[in-house]
Amino acid sequence: MNTTTQTAAPSLLAPAFAMALIGLSAMFVAGVAQSATMHDAAHDMRHATGFPCH
Ligand SMILES: [Zn+2]
Repeated sequence: MNTTTQTAAPSLLAPAFAMALIGLSAMFVAGVAQSATMHDAAHDMRHATGFPCH
């Protein structure tokens, strides 16, 4: 009987999901706020997370 339920690398999934959530929320905030400061912050976040930008 196998008591150890091993899911697919939770130590890798957690930060990847958190990073995607941060990137999406940053883009969403920039799209709604339409502020230059927020846009710059989201733009930097986009490049930092490796999102396709320009
Ligand atoms: Zn860019």
